[in-house]
Amino acid sequence: MTEQHAFRAEIQQLLDILIHSLYTNRDIFLRELVSNASDALNRLQFEQLTTHEIADPSADLYIEIVPDEAAGTLTIRDTGIGMTRDELIENLGVIAHSGAKAFIQAMRESKDVNAADVIGQFGVGFYSAFMVAERIRVVSKSYRPDEPAFAWESTGGDTYTLEEAEHETRGTNVILYLRDDAKDYLQPWKIKEIIRHHSNYIAFPIHVGDDEEPTNKQVAIWRQDSKEITDEQYDDFYKMLTLDFEAPSHRIHMRVDSPMQFYALLYIPSSVEQSILNLRREPGLKLYAHKVLIEEYNKELLPEYLQFVQGVVDSEDLPLAVSRESIQANRVMANLKKTLTSKVLSELKRLMKSKPEVYRQIFDNFGRFIKQGLVASPGDANDIMPLLLFKSTATNGDDMTTLGEYATRMVRGQSEIYYVIADDDVGAARSPHLDPFRRRGVEVLYFSDPVDPFMLMGLSEYEGYKLRNVDEADIDLSSVGELKEDESEAQEALPEDSFTAVRQRFVDLLGERVLDVRSSQNLVESPARLISTDSGVQRQMYRINRMLDREFELPVKILELNPRHPLVHNLSQMIASQPDNPLIDMVVTQVFETALLQDGIHPDPASMAERLTQIMQAATTRD
Ligand code: ADP
Repeated sequence: MTEQHAFRAEIQQLLDILIHSLYTNRDIFLRELVSNASDALNRLQFEQLTTHEIADPSADLYIEIVPDEAAGTLTIRDTGIGMTRDELIENLGVIAHSGAKAFIQAMRESKDVNAADVIGQFGVGFYSAFMVAERIRVVSKSYRPDEPAFAWESTGGDTYTLEEAEHETRGTNVILYLRDDAKDYLQPWKIKEIIRHHSNYIAFPIHVGDDEEPTNKQVAIWRQDSKEITDEQYDDFYKMLTLDFEAPSHRIHMRVDSPMQFYALLYIPSSVEQSILNLRREPGLKLYAHKVLIEEYNKELLPEYLQFVQGVVDSEDLPLAVSRESIQANRVMANLKKTLTSKVLSELKRLMKSKPEVYRQIFDNFGRFIKQGLVASPGDANDIMPLLLFKSTATNGDDMTTLGEYATRMVRGQSEIYYVIADDDVGAARSPHLDPFRRRGVEVLYFSDPVDPFMLMGLSEYEGYKLRNVDEADIDLSSVGELKEDESEAQEALPEDSFTAVRQRFVDLLGERVLDVRSSQNLVESPARLISTDSGVQRQMYRINRMLDREFELPVKILELNPRHPLVHNLSQMIASQPDNPLIDMVVTQVFETALLQDGIHPDPASMAERLTQIMQAATTRD
């Protein structure tokens, strides 16, 4: 009995797009079908480890490609996991994960993307066979004992049929009835050429026609000598693995013999973005044990902060009879993780020296993850710290500095590393806290990434130098560096009694909004700044909470006034001569709120607009 089923609506559209956009690249249909066959064999291998009941347990694992000149068919045959009737419907009749829709949309939206490069990412590779076939028949028998074989058939129109069929062993035959213009795919040399080009590293033997010799190399790329692999082959493998269509920034190919034996091929992607074209990218490394795929996305092989690394790990020490669950508790896994982590970190450090521009790209993309490692994996902190890059008062343009380079530029008497926290680099550079440091030629790092306050929970010291926030009240620079003597232009400081009057106005008006108001020794260009008395991480909590969109309370700080600044001089005169002038309170409040704004902690900057207008109005009124 033959049943007829309708395809889901997108399939017709998908087929149209495939036929038009892939026409010049039709060869890839074979890559897609061979990759499906190889997946089916991989999955069978895994079932063999964990399930005892398997149909045809003695059948060899291989792929066969059989051209039949007389019938005009090309058959791709595997002895893999096979499909039941329901699985045929689910996998070939419905695109459950909406891959087709996403693919169609992606092809419409991204002009310069080559459909052939990305089709595999959408779980619609099978349909590419309609570029060369006017009719496809899939005969499949599941690995589950006693499941009958079924045949699925379609001409790529609106419907497909299903019927019971005969099939000698477990596995799948995909029979392509080639279109007239695709008959050249019957020639064995052409098939072999495509296999060697696109499917050389498939781990199972691929036999073309009656050939005894498999056409493909079969050696997994990560088990090969790196001297034998070209950059292009490395990149192609990465794209196949990650479904990324851009080449990676960097790769690490390692073979370790003792104390454990394993192979690893790791890649650092060239972008952090998960575009619509990277639908199926998930963190985790592909884990093999003795060449058998155990897990597609294993997240235990690297610490969380290195999850941006993609790749394959193939261990000779993991017991084969492990289930995916028991793997996590395995001692071998812990050793693998340790070795892989230190390798990635040392590779990054090496890259920093040998290819700084590549490292910079990696840091721009993944620096935030790396910084989190300081907090999440404190044991790795000593290896992570040298990897950090920051802008500072001493860097130019887009350049960044390491903590180590900072240390070499420390001035006489300096024994601490200084940083300023801000919402961005421009805000950091303008911070009033920098005045005293600039005056003495002391470099200050810009911590302007939203994760930086969080990072500080794991970064209090570098090589014995304490890290200090420039707004900490007890920083004493009097014996650090050399004062640049351009003081002559600076105004005289207010006499003490005048300053006391000014200070009192601030104290009365600001009340609990400040802890205290003091005179500043250090400020040069700015009339005021807010300083903190408590150090440590706790005081960064409000920034962290703000970043996480949690509720936060503003920290209450000390306001420092610059007794040399003209604004403070003017205020002092006004307080003495017209103490009731409403401008005084407006300016006092505005000085305070400007300091909040400069620290990036003003809760509502727009609320200053009205007051600023009034101040400007007063400033432009002629009397
Ligand atoms: P993808 O392979 O990317 O998921 P395809 O459209 O190529 O997308 O295949 C859809 C599904 O059909 C596969 O996920 C798999 O479950 C099933 N399938 C395809 N070919 C085979 C095969 N040779 N053996 C077993 N299952 C297969």
